[in-house]
Amino acid sequence: MSKPKVGFNWLASCGGCEEAIIDLNEKILDVVAAVDIVFWPCAMDFKKDDVRAMADGEMDVCFVNGAIRTSEEEEMAHLMRQKSKILIAFGSCSHMGGIPGMGNFFSKDSILKNSYQESPSTINLDGTFPQMETITPLGEVELPEFLEYVRTLNQVVDVDYYLPGCPPPVRLITEALGAILENKLPPKGTVLAPDKALCDECPRKETKPDKMEIAEFKRPYQIIVDSEKCLLGQGLMCLGPVTRAGCEGVCTKANMPCTGCQGPTSRVQDYGAKALSGFASILTSMEEKDVEAVLDSIVDPNGTFYRYSLPSSMMFKSLGA
Ligand code: SF4
Ligand code: SF4
Repeated sequence: MSKPKVGFNWLASCGGCEEAIIDLNEKILDVVAAVDIVFWPCAMDFKKDDVRAMADGEMDVCFVNGAIRTSEEEEMAHLMRQKSKILIAFGSCSHMGGIPGMGNFFSKDSILKNSYQESPSTINLDGTFPQMETITPLGEVELPEFLEYVRTLNQVVDVDYYLPGCPPPVRLITEALGAILENKLPPKGTVLAPDKALCDECPRKETKPDKMEIAEFKRPYQIIVDSEKCLLGQGLMCLGPVTRAGCEGVCTKANMPCTGCQGPTSRVQDYGAKALSGFASILTSMEEKDVEAVLDSIVDPNGTFYRYSLPSSMMFKSLGA
């Protein structure tokens, strides 16, 4: 029997999801033995034309990480969809927009102006801005268009499954590959991670207070963190109660509060709104002045609650973008 043909590709992302594949360590040899990797430009010399030359649906599965911010990424998303039977949004950026998605708090023009004109480290006396076409002595150079907004993969093409995380945990990648090879994938649209909150698998869960009493939120560098106790109970902004499990608390085990990269469980439509309401519920029994003091202690609320999910939020969708 021929081996399944598999592709990997990255769009607007940092590349950490590709590193997660390398983190399979020796298990990657089993993967290579079980599948034919037919596209993986990060690791081997593949070009866009190699995908164009494939028949439609030629790849059995394609893992696409990264959000969509440029015209070239949009084109690649369509190509990978066309050439794959199963398309998996791989990692937070592809799943929910991820860190690049926070660009949607700003207009395209303000991002370009800040990057090429106003940032303290920029000296641009000629006011040079990137152009899509530039004539040089060696010929014409073309750049992809920087699009108006960051979009998730499923806002551009039809997606079959989601492997969450920044980056996706090795255990979840291994389980997904096993399900593909054994033809045991769940229904289309499933997020391939446990559908329960991270607190359920956090080693600190037994110390999580039933009733939170928080006078002020702190950042990890501001306190000596007790490495046994619930981080939220210590006044750190831990998003474990509203975040999907699957990473086994890799951050909380290292004294760092969860920032929510695995996204929400299936019962939640808007991760940031759910996180906000979860924190608001802690404050309900407080006096108004105390509530204000607690809220003032949250540094960068937008970034805290929508760090990975702004493009997939109801707020962003309501802009009609
Ligand atoms: S440290 Fe965070 S993830 Fe762990 S039990 Fe407390 S709130 Fe939940
Ligand atoms: S603890 Fe939270 S931020 Fe860290 S990997 Fe897990 S889900 Fe992501």
